[in-house]
Amino acid sequence: MPTFTLAGRLALVTGSGRGIGLAIARGYALAGARVVLNGRDASRLERSAAALSEEIVAHDPGRSAGDVRFSVFDVTDPDAAERACEEIVAAHGCPDILVNNAGVQIRGPLTGMPVDDWKRVLDVHLTGGFTVGRALARHMLPRGSGKIINICSVQSRLVRATTAPYAAAKTGLAGLTRAMCAEWAPSGIQVNGLAPGYIDTDLNASLVADPEFSGWITKRTPGGRWGRVEDVVGPAIWLASPAADFVNGQVIYVDGGMTAVI
Ligand code: NDP
Repeated sequence: MPTFTLAGRLALVTGSGRGIGLAIARGYALAGARVVLNGRDASRLERSAAALSEEIVAHDPGRSAGDVRFSVFDVTDPDAAERACEEIVAAHGCPDILVNNAGVQIRGPLTGMPVDDWKRVLDVHLTGGFTVGRALARHMLPRGSGKIINICSVQSRLVRATTAPYAAAKTGLAGLTRAMCAEWAPSGIQVNGLAPGYIDTDLNASLVADPEFSGWITKRTPGGRWGRVEDVVGPAIWLASPAADFVNGQVIYVDGGMTAVI
């Protein structure tokens, strides 16, 4: 039987001081993995890592606080990202699992969209995924194993007005997922996309607070509600586990049915 355990695995989750990334890192840690959190805010990462270490040691006294680490770097800075990945590999070994999760959203009409905002969104999602993915793949490929999960979005398939850079980045990330699969699957690497629907996090704070938008979400989603960060965790564990070893190059939607219906 394939198993869902992540015992003995090491996972790097980018953008995991809060939100979906932190929920996935927590799920991985509770499933047995050692995890490395990442973000740009060192004090937030320190707090999140300390709380998570405490939780996993309480959950299983056989675990150690050192099973949760953090690495501060900006995924849009290729040199810093490469350096940090090399430091992680040197200190802890090559991660078995990489989740490219770091993300930002900048909304506005296309005609008024500053080029810097456009570039910023593409840089975080797309260049960040490419840079960190490439840095770790260089170690995963000779070893012949590794799981890369790119956090896509319902906007990899469906688009709303005023979210052009985000939709372009997430659609591009789905393409990058397939391109990484094409190049790296023959060497034993699985690369998949996980595409959440609308999840209640800081990224969507203004939308959650807007009763008109929230009403639209509950009507537009067959599941009838906003997603919660916990909704993404089970599918993320499955994709990272041996149970999904033959799943490759796919984008899996976790959206309460939103992309299934019109
Ligand atoms: P949050 O805003 O809650 O968290 C975003 C995370 O990304 C933070 O931890 C932030 O860390 C990190 N981050 C942002 N920029 C960088 C950077 N340049 N380098 C490193 N880390 C960075 O968002 P969510 O948890 O909602 O989103 C997580 C992912 O899920 C994103 O890719 C998002 O696009 C995707 N997603 C979200 C959905 C939703 O509805 N919420 C739906 C579909 C996909 P810090 O600022 O501390 O550096």
